[in-house]
Amino acid sequence: MTLVMKFGGTSVGSANAMRETAQLIQKTKQAWNQIIVVASGMGSKPIKITDLLLQGAYSAFDGDDNTYKEIADQMRRIHFETIDGLLEPEGERQKILAENQRFISHYEALCQAVCVLGELTPRALDAISGMGEQMSVPILAAYLRQEGIPAQAVDATNLIVTDNNFQSANPDFGLTTIKVQAALRPLLENNIIPIVTGFVGATPNGITTTLGRGGSDFSASILGQSIKANEVWIWTDVDGVMSADPRIVDNAVSIPVLSYREVSELAYYGAKVLHPKTMRPCIENNIPLRIKNTFNPTHPGTVIVDHKSNGNGGIKAVTGIKNLSMITVEGTGMIGIPGIAARTFSAVARTKVSVLLISQASSEQSICFAVPESQNETVVNSLRTEFAEEIKRRDIDSVWALHDVSIVTVVGAGMRGTPGVSGRIFSSMGEHHVNVIAIAQGSSECSISIVIDGDDTAAAISHIHNIILEL
Ligand code: ASP
Ligand code: MG
Repeated sequence: MTLVMKFGGTSVGSANAMRETAQLIQKTKQAWNQIIVVASGMGSKPIKITDLLLQGAYSAFDGDDNTYKEIADQMRRIHFETIDGLLEPEGERQKILAENQRFISHYEALCQAVCVLGELTPRALDAISGMGEQMSVPILAAYLRQEGIPAQAVDATNLIVTDNNFQSANPDFGLTTIKVQAALRPLLENNIIPIVTGFVGATPNGITTTLGRGGSDFSASILGQSIKANEVWIWTDVDGVMSADPRIVDNAVSIPVLSYREVSELAYYGAKVLHPKTMRPCIENNIPLRIKNTFNPTHPGTVIVDHKSNGNGGIKAVTGIKNLSMITVEGTGMIGIPGIAARTFSAVARTKVSVLLISQASSEQSICFAVPESQNETVVNSLRTEFAEEIKRRDIDSVWALHDVSIVTVVGAGMRGTPGVSGRIFSSMGEHHVNVIAIAQGSSECSISIVIDGDDTAAAISHIHNIILEL
């Protein structure tokens, strides 16, 4: 039985965190014969090494020749303190210190080059931002060895082969599988735990790439597919995916089973669950993907499966996104004229702003959609330019934005088969004086979204959550 497990930045964020992670690895190893560990760069809130690396690079690009040096010092402090706290002086401490030091010096050299050249390419950004993982992983592996658990650090630039779409590279599963099998199989067979850098990969020519921010989750599922793992586990700090944000409702519960679709809807509507590309390799290869809590390791967490194995469904979670604007294009001259919607969304697409929800009145007199508040002006201007003629002719009366609205979304495949669910949601909103501005149902019929005044967000979420608990 093979298990791939991913630990995020907080799980390797300090000497103590690494100690606990190592214990968890050891325990899991006893239950599972073969395990592969993927780890992120160090990141104990609020400081994430990946953010620091990038911050230094951008400041160098702005001509600042100092900030990246301070950041290098800060990274030295963080990593060296962890190494000193974990590794015995007579063991591998010096070796790992030197290895980390080499990365930090290389970081400074790269940032200096960026500063001198005034150029920061996506390729350079990947070389720089991937270093967090390349520094944390050798520390964890050395500590495991010191504790008598055979482990080996593996740099994923030697495993995960990607295209050259820097900052969001796509894996080549064929080439990756060959490398993964060749490099990791022998380790597993010799009872050695591979500790692999998350987030990074490399082109076939060996140029470092990254899989996008938060991409260590994706690294785990790529390895899961390539090694034909029985399960992939993502360790985090909550008991899996929750029925609502525990900071908003105090009786949120962990959801035992979610389908791929449900998770996608949740992620789209603001729940930070997983890196969005993580699920596909698991779903396509029938590998259960589990989200588990490092602080409560015996809790089963949430398992994500394809929709066919999703049991009876039900409505499962409610989530919200705040700080949106609802933009409306309206006019009596729009009725029956084809192409208005297409032109509306082309004009939005040109601004590169993504639309979170769309709703059209059946009279065709208006189209409205939600975008992030910060971008509403750009979008409104683009629409006014697109429809300048129609506005002049009064076919379109106005293009306007309603500010400070939120989208609250209820997710659950069970809505399809359960009549009356939306009725209950709307009655509850009515009873509690939450005014519903617009409604949209996901075409997969596994979500309903309502647009409400931003001030009503917490109330709407907690009343809907009560319905979830009652059902
Ligand atoms: N360290 C990377 C990031 O901060 C990848 C990850 O943590 O998943 O985006
Ligand atoms: Mg993450």
